[in-house]
Amino acid sequence: MAVSKHTHKYQEVPTTGGKKLWACGNCTHYMPLNVAWQIEGKPSECWECDGQVVMSEEIMEFARKYNKGKILCFDCIDRRAGKKKVDVTVPEDFDFDDMIRKMNRESK
Ligand SMILES: [Zn+2]
Ligand SMILES: [Zn+2]
Repeated sequence: MAVSKHTHKYQEVPTTGGKKLWACGNCTHYMPLNVAWQIEGKPSECWECDGQVVMSEEIMEFARKYNKGKILCFDCIDRRAGKKKVDVTVPEDFDFDDMIRKMNRESK
Protein backbone atom coordinates (compact mmCIF):
# COMPACT_ATOMS: atom_id res chain seq x y z
CA MET A 1 0.00 0.00 0.00
CA ALA A 2 1.31 3.42 -0.92
CA VAL A 3 2.20 5.72 1.91
CA SER A 4 0.33 9.00 1.91
CA LYS A 5 0.87 12.09 4.01
CA HIS A 6 -2.73 12.28 5.10
CA THR A 7 -5.77 10.07 5.39
CA HIS A 8 -7.90 10.69 2.34
CA LYS A 9 -11.23 12.26 3.01
CA TYR A 10 -13.57 10.48 0.68
CA GLN A 11 -16.66 11.78 -1.03
CA GLU A 12 -18.57 10.14 -3.84
CA VAL A 13 -18.62 12.51 -6.79
CA PRO A 14 -20.23 12.26 -10.25
CA THR A 15 -17.97 11.98 -13.29
CA THR A 16 -18.55 13.11 -16.86
CA GLY A 17 -19.65 9.63 -17.84
CA GLY A 18 -22.50 9.74 -15.35
CA LYS A 19 -20.77 7.26 -13.10
CA LYS A 20 -19.65 8.05 -9.60
CA LEU A 21 -16.34 7.59 -7.93
CA TRP A 22 -14.80 8.17 -4.54
CA ALA A 23 -12.50 11.17 -4.44
CA CYS A 24 -10.51 12.84 -1.68
CA GLY A 25 -11.66 16.27 -0.56
CA ASN A 26 -8.15 17.29 0.46
CA CYS A 27 -6.08 16.31 -2.55
CA THR A 28 -6.38 15.12 -6.15
CA HIS A 29 -6.55 11.44 -5.21
CA TYR A 30 -9.51 9.37 -6.33
CA MET A 31 -10.33 5.71 -6.82
CA PRO A 32 -10.44 4.90 -10.55
CA LEU A 33 -13.63 3.11 -11.53
CA ASN A 34 -11.88 -0.12 -12.49
CA VAL A 35 -10.52 -0.47 -8.95
CA ALA A 36 -13.39 1.27 -7.15
CA TRP A 37 -14.16 -1.86 -5.14
CA GLN A 38 -10.75 -1.60 -3.49
CA ILE A 39 -12.02 1.36 -1.50
CA GLU A 40 -13.46 -1.06 1.03
CA GLY A 41 -11.21 -1.44 4.04
CA LYS A 42 -9.37 1.81 3.40
CA PRO A 43 -9.34 4.53 6.02
CA SER A 44 -11.17 7.78 5.37
CA GLU A 45 -11.31 10.97 7.29
CA CYS A 46 -14.70 12.03 8.60
CA TRP A 47 -16.13 15.15 6.94
CA GLU A 48 -17.65 16.34 10.16
CA CYS A 49 -15.15 15.78 12.96
CA ASP A 50 -11.87 14.84 11.22
CA GLY A 51 -11.91 11.48 12.97
CA GLN A 52 -11.14 8.35 10.99
CA VAL A 53 -13.27 5.49 9.83
CA VAL A 54 -12.70 2.38 7.76
CA MET A 55 -14.64 2.36 4.50
CA SER A 56 -17.30 -0.33 4.43
CA GLU A 57 -20.49 -0.82 2.47
CA GLU A 58 -22.56 0.52 5.33
CA ILE A 59 -20.39 3.58 5.78
CA MET A 60 -20.60 4.33 2.07
CA GLU A 61 -24.31 3.69 1.97
CA PHE A 62 -24.91 6.08 4.83
CA ALA A 63 -22.78 8.75 3.17
CA ARG A 64 -24.72 8.35 -0.08
CA LYS A 65 -28.14 8.43 1.49
CA TYR A 66 -27.72 11.00 4.20
CA ASN A 67 -24.64 13.09 3.63
CA LYS A 68 -24.31 13.83 -0.10
CA GLY A 69 -21.66 11.17 -0.51
CA LYS A 70 -19.43 12.57 2.20
CA ILE A 71 -18.03 9.98 4.59
CA LEU A 72 -18.89 10.21 8.28
CA CYS A 73 -17.33 8.28 11.16
CA PHE A 74 -19.34 6.09 13.55
CA ASP A 75 -19.55 8.84 16.15
CA CYS A 76 -21.02 11.33 13.71
CA ILE A 77 -23.42 8.76 12.30
CA ASP A 78 -24.52 8.01 15.85
CA ARG A 79 -24.95 11.66 16.57
CA ARG A 80 -27.04 12.19 13.46
CA ALA A 81 -29.17 9.16 14.13
CA GLY A 82 -29.78 10.47 17.63
CA LYS A 83 -31.28 13.71 16.43
CA LYS A 84 -33.68 12.82 13.71
CA LYS A 85 -35.32 16.22 13.72
CA VAL A 86 -32.27 17.85 12.19
CA ASP A 87 -31.80 17.74 8.44
CA VAL A 88 -30.90 14.06 8.26
CA THR A 89 -33.92 11.80 8.31
CA VAL A 90 -33.51 8.10 8.96
CA PRO A 91 -36.35 6.08 7.44
CA GLU A 92 -38.37 3.97 9.85
CA ASP A 93 -37.45 0.71 8.17
CA PHE A 94 -33.75 1.46 8.39
CA ASP A 95 -32.14 -0.99 10.82
CA PHE A 96 -29.57 1.24 12.41
CA ASP A 97 -28.47 -1.18 15.12
CA ASP A 98 -27.82 -3.82 12.52
CA MET A 99 -25.76 -1.39 10.48
CA ILE A 100 -23.65 -0.40 13.49
CA ARG A 101 -23.13 -4.05 14.41
CA LYS A 102 -21.89 -4.86 10.93
CA MET A 103 -19.62 -1.86 10.89
CA ASN A 104 -18.11 -2.69 14.24
CA ARG A 105 -17.45 -6.23 13.12
CA GLU A 106 -15.76 -5.10 9.94
CA SER A 107 -13.60 -2.48 11.56
CA LYS A 108 -11.87 -4.97 13.85
ZN1 LIG B 1 -6.22 12.89 -0.12
ZN1 LIG C 1 -16.95 12.14 12.68
